[in-house]
Amino acid sequence: MSVQPRRTLAQVKAYVPERPGCAIDLSDNTNLFGVPPAAAESLRDVTAAAITRYPVAYVPALRQAAARYFGVEPERIATGCGSDDVIDCAIRAFVEPGEKVAHSDPTFSMVPVFARLNGCEPVAVPLRDDLDVDADALLATKAKLIYLCSPNNPTGTTVSRASLEKVLNGATGVVLLDEAYAEFARENFLARALERDNVLVTRTMSKAFGLAGLRVGFGLGAPALVVEVEKSRGPYKITSIAERAATAALTRDLDWVRTNATEAREVRERLVDGLRRQGLAPLPSEANFVMVPVPGAAEVSERMREQGVQVRAFTGLTKIGDALRIGCGPWTMLERCLAALEEART
Ligand SMILES: *Cc1c(COP(=O)(O)O)cnc(C)c1O
Repeated sequence: MSVQPRRTLAQVKAYVPERPGCAIDLSDNTNLFGVPPAAAESLRDVTAAAITRYPVAYVPALRQAAARYFGVEPERIATGCGSDDVIDCAIRAFVEPGEKVAHSDPTFSMVPVFARLNGCEPVAVPLRDDLDVDADALLATKAKLIYLCSPNNPTGTTVSRASLEKVLNGATGVVLLDEAYAEFARENFLARALERDNVLVTRTMSKAFGLAGLRVGFGLGAPALVVEVEKSRGPYKITSIAERAATAALTRDLDWVRTNATEAREVRERLVDGLRRQGLAPLPSEANFVMVPVPGAAEVSERMREQGVQVRAFTGLTKIGDALRIGCGPWTMLERCLAALEEART
Protein backbone atom coordinates (compact mmCIF):
# COMPACT_ATOMS: atom_id res chain seq x y z
CA MET A 1 0.00 0.00 0.00
CA SER A 2 1.40 3.41 -0.90
CA VAL A 3 1.15 6.16 1.65
CA GLN A 4 -0.73 9.24 0.45
CA PRO A 5 0.32 12.66 1.72
CA ARG A 6 -2.34 15.21 2.67
CA ARG A 7 -4.19 16.52 -0.39
CA THR A 8 -2.85 20.02 0.25
CA LEU A 9 0.65 18.76 -0.53
CA ALA A 10 -0.27 17.56 -4.02
CA GLN A 11 -0.02 21.12 -5.40
CA VAL A 12 3.25 21.92 -3.63
CA LYS A 13 6.67 21.18 -5.08
CA ALA A 14 9.77 20.79 -2.94
CA TYR A 15 11.88 23.96 -3.01
CA VAL A 16 14.74 23.61 -5.49
CA PRO A 17 17.58 26.03 -4.79
CA GLU A 18 19.79 27.43 -7.53
CA ARG A 19 22.80 25.29 -8.39
CA PRO A 20 25.62 26.29 -6.04
CA GLY A 21 29.29 26.73 -6.72
CA CYS A 22 29.56 29.98 -8.64
CA ALA A 23 32.49 32.29 -7.93
CA ILE A 24 30.18 35.30 -7.62
CA ASP A 25 26.70 34.45 -6.33
CA LEU A 26 24.29 37.39 -6.56
CA SER A 27 21.20 35.19 -6.66
CA ASP A 28 19.67 35.27 -3.18
CA ASN A 29 19.68 38.87 -1.83
CA THR A 30 21.67 37.99 1.29
CA ASN A 31 24.37 40.30 2.66
CA LEU A 32 27.46 40.04 0.46
CA PHE A 33 29.58 42.42 2.56
CA GLY A 34 30.53 39.87 5.23
CA VAL A 35 29.49 38.81 8.72
CA PRO A 36 28.47 41.23 11.48
CA PRO A 37 31.50 41.21 13.81
CA ALA A 38 29.84 41.11 17.26
CA ALA A 39 27.58 38.27 16.11
CA ALA A 40 30.58 36.30 14.84
CA GLU A 41 32.47 36.99 18.08
CA SER A 42 29.51 35.75 20.16
CA LEU A 43 29.72 32.36 18.45
CA ARG A 44 33.34 31.81 19.44
CA ASP A 45 32.64 31.13 23.11
CA VAL A 46 29.43 29.10 23.03
CA THR A 47 29.05 27.29 26.36
CA ALA A 48 28.19 23.63 26.86
CA ALA A 49 24.93 24.67 28.53
CA ALA A 50 23.89 26.53 25.38
CA ILE A 51 24.12 23.26 23.49
CA THR A 52 23.00 20.55 25.91
CA ARG A 53 19.98 22.36 27.37
CA TYR A 54 16.87 23.64 25.59
CA PRO A 55 16.85 27.35 24.84
CA VAL A 56 14.60 29.48 27.08
CA ALA A 57 11.15 29.33 25.49
CA TYR A 58 10.22 32.36 23.36
CA VAL A 59 13.80 33.69 23.52
CA PRO A 60 13.38 36.59 26.01
CA ALA A 61 16.89 38.01 25.53
CA LEU A 62 16.41 38.23 21.76
CA ARG A 63 12.97 39.80 22.16
CA GLN A 64 14.43 42.44 24.49
CA ALA A 65 17.20 43.29 22.04
CA ALA A 66 14.75 43.38 19.13
CA ALA A 67 12.35 45.54 21.16
CA ARG A 68 15.09 48.13 21.65
CA TYR A 69 16.08 48.05 17.98
CA PHE A 70 12.51 48.43 16.71
CA GLY A 71 11.45 50.82 19.48
CA VAL A 72 8.49 48.73 20.69
CA GLU A 73 7.59 46.69 23.77
CA PRO A 74 8.72 43.01 23.75
CA GLU A 75 5.03 41.92 23.90
CA ARG A 76 4.70 43.23 20.36
CA ILE A 77 7.38 40.94 18.92
CA ALA A 78 6.94 37.35 17.75
CA THR A 79 10.06 35.47 16.72
CA GLY A 80 10.51 32.65 14.25
CA CYS A 81 12.96 30.41 12.45
CA GLY A 82 13.41 33.08 9.79
CA SER A 83 10.57 35.41 8.86
CA ASP A 84 9.43 32.59 6.53
CA ASP A 85 8.38 30.77 9.69
CA VAL A 86 6.53 33.84 10.99
CA ILE A 87 4.59 34.13 7.70
CA ASP A 88 3.69 30.43 7.81
CA CYS A 89 2.62 30.67 11.47
CA ALA A 90 0.58 33.82 10.85
CA ILE A 91 -1.38 32.11 8.07
CA ARG A 92 -1.98 29.11 10.33
CA ALA A 93 -2.99 31.40 13.21
CA PHE A 94 -5.49 33.59 11.36
CA VAL A 95 -6.76 31.78 8.25
CA GLU A 96 -9.00 28.70 8.40
CA PRO A 97 -8.41 25.93 5.85
CA GLY A 98 -10.36 26.81 2.71
CA GLU A 99 -10.19 30.57 3.34
CA LYS A 100 -8.23 32.95 1.11
CA VAL A 101 -4.78 34.49 1.34
CA ALA A 102 -4.43 37.37 -1.15
CA HIS A 103 -1.05 38.51 -2.44
CA SER A 104 0.31 40.57 -5.31
CA ASP A 105 1.80 38.96 -8.38
CA PRO A 106 4.73 38.88 -8.71
CA THR A 107 5.77 38.74 -5.08
CA PHE A 108 7.67 36.50 -2.62
CA SER A 109 7.20 33.01 -4.04
CA MET A 110 6.87 31.30 -0.64
CA VAL A 111 3.58 33.02 0.21
CA PRO A 112 1.30 30.91 -2.02
CA VAL A 113 3.26 27.84 -0.91
CA PHE A 114 2.64 28.57 2.79
CA ALA A 115 -1.03 29.27 2.02
CA ARG A 116 -1.41 25.88 0.34
CA LEU A 117 0.54 24.03 3.04
CA ASN A 118 -1.96 25.37 5.55
CA GLY A 119 -4.92 24.25 3.41
CA CYS A 120 -5.75 27.84 2.42
CA GLU A 121 -6.41 29.25 -1.03
CA PRO A 122 -3.79 31.67 -2.40
CA VAL A 123 -5.27 34.39 -4.63
CA ALA A 124 -2.78 36.18 -6.90
CA VAL A 125 -3.60 39.82 -7.73
CA PRO A 126 -1.45 41.33 -10.51
CA LEU A 127 0.54 44.45 -9.68
CA ARG A 128 -0.74 47.56 -11.45
CA ASP A 129 1.01 48.81 -14.59
CA ASP A 130 3.02 51.24 -12.42
CA LEU A 131 4.06 48.19 -10.29
CA ASP A 132 2.27 49.49 -7.18
CA VAL A 133 -0.05 46.99 -5.49
CA ASP A 134 -3.68 46.98 -6.66
CA ALA A 135 -5.36 47.82 -3.34
CA ASP A 136 -8.93 47.66 -4.70
CA ALA A 137 -8.40 44.26 -6.28
CA LEU A 138 -6.71 42.90 -3.13
CA LEU A 139 -9.64 44.10 -0.99
CA ALA A 140 -12.16 42.73 -3.49
CA THR A 141 -10.90 39.19 -2.82
CA LYS A 142 -12.29 39.52 0.74
CA ALA A 143 -9.32 37.43 1.80
CA LYS A 144 -8.86 36.60 5.46
CA LEU A 145 -5.22 37.65 5.16
CA ILE A 146 -3.72 40.16 2.71
CA TYR A 147 0.03 39.91 2.19
CA LEU A 148 1.95 43.03 1.14
CA CYS A 149 5.69 43.14 0.54
CA SER A 150 7.59 46.45 0.52
CA PRO A 151 10.19 46.66 -0.92
CA ASN A 152 8.80 43.76 -2.93
CA ASN A 153 10.78 40.65 -3.81
CA PRO A 154 11.50 40.11 -6.72
CA THR A 155 10.73 43.55 -8.21
CA GLY A 156 12.42 45.80 -5.62
CA THR A 157 9.52 48.25 -5.97
CA THR A 158 7.60 49.62 -2.98
CA VAL A 159 3.97 49.82 -1.93
CA SER A 160 2.84 53.47 -2.14
CA ARG A 161 1.57 55.12 1.02
CA ALA A 162 -1.82 55.69 -0.65
CA SER A 163 -2.22 51.98 -1.49
CA LEU A 164 -1.11 50.95 1.98
CA GLU A 165 -3.67 53.28 3.59
CA LYS A 166 -6.38 51.95 1.31
CA VAL A 167 -5.60 48.36 2.27
CA LEU A 168 -5.38 49.22 5.98
CA ASN A 169 -8.70 51.05 5.87
CA GLY A 170 -10.53 48.41 3.85
CA ALA A 171 -9.17 45.11 5.17
CA THR A 172 -11.58 42.99 7.16
CA GLY A 173 -8.96 40.42 8.20
CA VAL A 174 -5.25 40.49 8.92
CA VAL A 175 -2.77 42.52 6.86
CA LEU A 176 0.73 41.02 6.80
CA LEU A 177 3.32 43.56 5.68
CA ASP A 178 6.66 41.93 4.81
CA GLU A 179 9.51 44.41 5.25
CA ALA A 180 12.44 42.03 4.81
CA TYR A 181 14.33 44.80 2.96
CA ALA A 182 13.31 47.78 5.13
CA GLU A 183 16.91 48.70 5.99
CA PHE A 184 17.59 49.48 2.31
CA ALA A 185 14.46 51.57 1.70
CA ARG A 186 13.83 55.31 2.04
CA GLU A 187 10.90 54.75 4.41
CA ASN A 188 9.13 51.93 6.19
CA PHE A 189 5.62 51.56 7.50
CA LEU A 190 6.30 49.92 10.88
CA ALA A 191 5.11 52.84 13.02
CA ARG A 192 1.96 53.24 10.94
CA ALA A 193 1.25 49.50 11.02
CA LEU A 194 1.60 49.31 14.80
CA GLU A 195 -1.28 51.77 15.20
CA ARG A 196 -3.59 49.01 13.95
CA ASP A 197 -4.57 45.88 15.84
CA ASN A 198 -4.91 43.76 12.68
CA VAL A 199 -1.50 44.36 11.08
CA LEU A 200 1.59 42.18 11.46
CA VAL A 201 4.92 43.45 10.08
CA THR A 202 7.64 40.88 9.40
CA ARG A 203 11.35 41.67 9.55
CA THR A 204 14.40 39.42 9.23
CA MET A 205 18.03 39.02 10.28
CA SER A 206 18.74 37.36 6.90
CA LYS A 207 19.32 40.39 4.67
CA ALA A 208 20.82 43.63 6.07
CA PHE A 209 21.94 41.82 9.25
CA GLY A 210 23.83 39.14 7.30
CA LEU A 211 22.66 36.14 9.38
CA ALA A 212 20.61 34.13 6.85
CA GLY A 213 22.26 30.88 7.91
CA LEU A 214 21.09 31.27 11.50
CA ARG A 215 17.39 31.65 10.59
CA VAL A 216 15.96 34.43 12.74
CA GLY A 217 12.91 36.53 11.85
CA PHE A 218 10.32 38.68 13.60
CA GLY A 219 6.63 39.52 13.45
CA LEU A 220 5.66 42.87 14.99
CA GLY A 221 2.11 43.80 15.86
CA ALA A 222 -0.53 44.08 18.56
CA PRO A 223 0.21 41.81 21.56
CA ALA A 224 -2.98 39.84 20.87
CA LEU A 225 -1.73 38.99 17.34
CA VAL A 226 1.76 38.17 18.58
CA VAL A 227 0.43 35.67 21.12
CA GLU A 228 -1.47 33.76 18.42
CA VAL A 229 1.52 33.67 16.07
CA GLU A 230 3.72 32.26 18.84
CA LYS A 231 1.05 29.71 19.81
CA SER A 232 0.81 28.46 16.26
CA ARG A 233 4.61 28.29 16.06
CA GLY A 234 5.48 26.39 19.23
CA PRO A 235 8.22 27.08 21.78
CA TYR A 236 11.71 26.07 20.58
CA LYS A 237 12.10 27.25 17.00
CA ILE A 238 15.07 29.55 17.56
CA THR A 239 18.23 27.77 18.64
CA SER A 240 20.20 29.10 21.60
CA ILE A 241 23.11 29.74 19.24
CA ALA A 242 21.00 31.77 16.80
CA GLU A 243 19.52 33.71 19.72
CA ARG A 244 22.98 34.51 21.00
CA ALA A 245 24.33 35.79 17.68
CA ALA A 246 21.16 37.68 16.75
CA THR A 247 21.04 39.38 20.15
CA ALA A 248 24.68 40.44 19.76
CA ALA A 249 24.01 41.78 16.26
CA LEU A 250 20.95 43.78 17.34
CA THR A 251 22.89 45.26 20.24
CA ARG A 252 26.44 45.80 18.96
CA ASP A 253 26.48 45.54 15.15
CA LEU A 254 24.10 48.36 14.23
CA ASP A 255 26.85 50.58 12.83
CA TRP A 256 28.08 47.67 10.69
CA VAL A 257 24.55 47.09 9.42
CA ARG A 258 23.96 50.76 8.61
CA THR A 259 27.32 51.18 6.88
CA ASN A 260 26.78 48.16 4.66
CA ALA A 261 23.16 49.03 3.91
CA THR A 262 24.32 52.48 2.80
CA GLU A 263 26.97 50.95 0.58
CA ALA A 264 24.44 48.49 -0.88
CA ARG A 265 22.20 51.43 -1.81
CA GLU A 266 25.11 53.30 -3.41
CA VAL A 267 26.28 50.38 -5.53
CA ARG A 268 22.65 49.66 -6.42
CA GLU A 269 22.45 53.05 -8.15
CA ARG A 270 25.76 52.43 -9.95
CA LEU A 271 24.42 49.05 -11.08
CA VAL A 272 21.24 50.71 -12.36
CA ASP A 273 23.38 53.18 -14.36
CA GLY A 274 25.48 50.35 -15.79
CA LEU A 275 22.37 48.41 -16.84
CA ARG A 276 20.91 51.52 -18.50
CA ARG A 277 24.14 52.01 -20.40
CA GLN A 278 23.60 48.51 -21.83
CA GLY A 279 20.23 49.71 -23.14
CA LEU A 280 18.22 47.96 -20.42
CA ALA A 281 15.45 49.42 -18.25
CA PRO A 282 15.91 48.23 -14.65
CA LEU A 283 12.95 48.66 -12.30
CA PRO A 284 13.25 51.31 -9.58
CA SER A 285 14.54 49.41 -6.51
CA GLU A 286 14.60 50.27 -2.83
CA ALA A 287 16.05 46.90 -1.84
CA ASN A 288 19.55 45.36 -1.99
CA PHE A 289 18.86 43.92 -5.43
CA VAL A 290 17.76 45.16 -8.84
CA MET A 291 15.29 43.54 -11.21
CA VAL A 292 15.95 44.12 -14.88
CA PRO A 293 13.73 42.85 -17.68
CA VAL A 294 15.85 40.84 -20.16
CA PRO A 295 14.29 38.73 -22.94
CA GLY A 296 15.44 35.11 -22.71
CA ALA A 297 16.54 35.65 -19.09
CA ALA A 298 17.00 31.92 -18.40
CA GLU A 299 19.48 31.47 -21.26
CA VAL A 300 21.23 34.75 -20.46
CA SER A 301 21.70 33.73 -16.81
CA GLU A 302 23.06 30.35 -17.90
CA ARG A 303 25.67 32.07 -20.07
CA MET A 304 26.52 34.37 -17.14
CA ARG A 305 26.97 31.30 -14.93
CA GLU A 306 29.49 29.92 -17.37
CA GLN A 307 31.46 33.12 -16.72
CA GLY A 308 31.28 32.59 -12.95
CA VAL A 309 28.43 34.97 -12.09
CA GLN A 310 25.14 33.71 -10.74
CA VAL A 311 21.99 35.85 -10.83
CA ARG A 312 18.37 34.79 -10.48
CA ALA A 313 16.38 34.38 -13.70
CA PHE A 314 12.58 34.66 -13.90
CA THR A 315 10.50 33.81 -16.95
CA GLY A 316 7.09 35.16 -17.88
CA LEU A 317 6.51 37.25 -14.75
CA THR A 318 3.14 38.99 -14.67
CA LYS A 319 3.48 42.59 -16.02
CA ILE A 320 7.26 42.18 -16.45
CA GLY A 321 8.02 39.14 -18.60
CA ASP A 322 11.50 37.64 -18.50
CA ALA A 323 13.85 39.30 -16.02
CA LEU A 324 17.02 38.94 -13.99
CA ARG A 325 17.27 39.76 -10.29
CA ILE A 326 20.75 40.87 -9.27
CA GLY A 327 21.85 41.10 -5.62
CA CYS A 328 23.94 44.14 -4.68
CA GLY A 329 27.34 43.17 -3.26
CA PRO A 330 30.66 45.01 -3.30
CA TRP A 331 31.19 46.99 -6.53
CA THR A 332 33.93 44.63 -7.81
CA MET A 333 31.31 41.85 -7.93
CA LEU A 334 28.81 44.05 -9.74
CA GLU A 335 31.42 45.12 -12.29
CA ARG A 336 32.04 41.46 -13.09
CA CYS A 337 28.29 40.91 -13.27
CA LEU A 338 27.80 43.79 -15.74
CA ALA A 339 30.62 42.48 -17.93
CA ALA A 340 29.20 38.94 -17.86
CA LEU A 341 25.73 40.23 -18.72
CA GLU A 342 27.01 42.25 -21.66
CA GLU A 343 28.96 39.23 -22.94
CA ALA A 344 25.97 36.92 -22.41
CA ARG A 345 23.66 39.15 -24.49
CA THR A 346 25.98 39.52 -27.49
C1 LIG B 1 14.43 36.81 2.04
C2 LIG B 1 12.99 37.15 2.31
C3 LIG B 1 12.37 36.80 3.49
C4 LIG B 1 13.05 36.12 4.56
O1 LIG B 1 13.42 35.19 4.87
P1 LIG B 1 13.96 34.53 6.21
O2 LIG B 1 13.07 33.37 6.37
O3 LIG B 1 13.79 35.55 7.30
O4 LIG B 1 15.36 34.21 5.90
C5 LIG B 1 11.06 37.15 3.71
N1 LIG B 1 10.38 37.83 2.78
C6 LIG B 1 10.94 38.20 1.65
C7 LIG B 1 10.17 38.99 0.69
C8 LIG B 1 12.26 37.86 1.36
O5 LIG B 1 12.80 38.22 0.20
